[in-house]
Amino acid sequence: MTQKTNLIDGTAIAAATRAETAQRVAALKASKGITPGLATVLVGDDPASAVYVGAKRKACEEVGMNSIGYTLPATASEAEVVALVRELAGRKDVHGILTQFPLPKHIREDAVLAEIPIGKDVDGFNPINMGLLGLKGKRAPFAPCTPQGCVELLVRTGVQIAGKRAVVLGRSAIVGLPVGLMLLARDATVTYCHSKTPNLAAVTREADILIAAIGKARFVTADMVKPGAVVIDVGINRISDPTRKSGSRLVGDVDFDAVAPLASAITPVPGGVGPMTIAMLLRNTLEAAERL
Ligand code: NDP
Repeated sequence: MTQKTNLIDGTAIAAATRAETAQRVAALKASKGITPGLATVLVGDDPASAVYVGAKRKACEEVGMNSIGYTLPATASEAEVVALVRELAGRKDVHGILTQFPLPKHIREDAVLAEIPIGKDVDGFNPINMGLLGLKGKRAPFAPCTPQGCVELLVRTGVQIAGKRAVVLGRSAIVGLPVGLMLLARDATVTYCHSKTPNLAAVTREADILIAAIGKARFVTADMVKPGAVVIDVGINRISDPTRKSGSRLVGDVDFDAVAPLASAITPVPGGVGPMTIAMLLRNTLEAAERL
């Protein structure tokens, strides 16, 4: 199969889900007079965090939602951040709360997350939301956005999940662990691999669906992939590239050029999972408002 026919176009799928969200936002405004609102809390002046928050706020406005932004100085105390989140938790015009991580070292992320009611935890990072993901028959109010984006790509591409063997490379709380739980809930047989897994290639070669989320450039090589597998590459790694004006470019955790010819479907980097994260954040915020 050629790369053209097996490419999962995350940019197009994210655009389609954002358009659907915009329609539902308009419908909610018309029927109930409610405009979904996402509050963002940025602490400190980390440039990358500021870019991420800016992109999320702009995306909110593009689908007709309110974006309510707060920026606190890096010197803000944990008590100040907690007090702000507590105030946002009680506000009627705030349906979702997002605290941009990492927080400055003197602030405990758990202490801040604990203040976000699970009904407004649109990032899905509250341990209660995460725990519900793993309990059979329970429904978490919100799943974390990147893993949800991975599953959405599979579903919208028509990939069958039930009964398939899924292998997740990586077990972090924000990607690997929740994506595996979500695939399990959809009746895949799930195996997790991590840095202590022996004979990694033998395990990944069993995957009908392979999710790579380890943060190592082009780690997954052709010999690690079963022909016909569906490959979802979550990794975002910057490597040097003297042919580019910037001197660098982004690649995933999968050696795309080698793996794409044998995969039945594969996400590129960039343009695969990446665009889905904000699209899922918008949908989660909309759904928080719809549930009122
Ligand atoms: P973490 O560093 O938190 O976790 C990496 C995981 O990979 C760990 O479970 C680790 O195992 C495992 N791992 C590391 N090295 C190896 C190895 N050599 N063999 C097998 N397993 C290994 O990363 P994240 O989950 O936060 O992110 C993973 C990637 O996804 C990154 O490239 C990140 O940039 C990207 N990402 C993309 C997003 C998006 O598209 N929007 C959002 C979030 C992340 P162990 O637990 O044993 O240490």
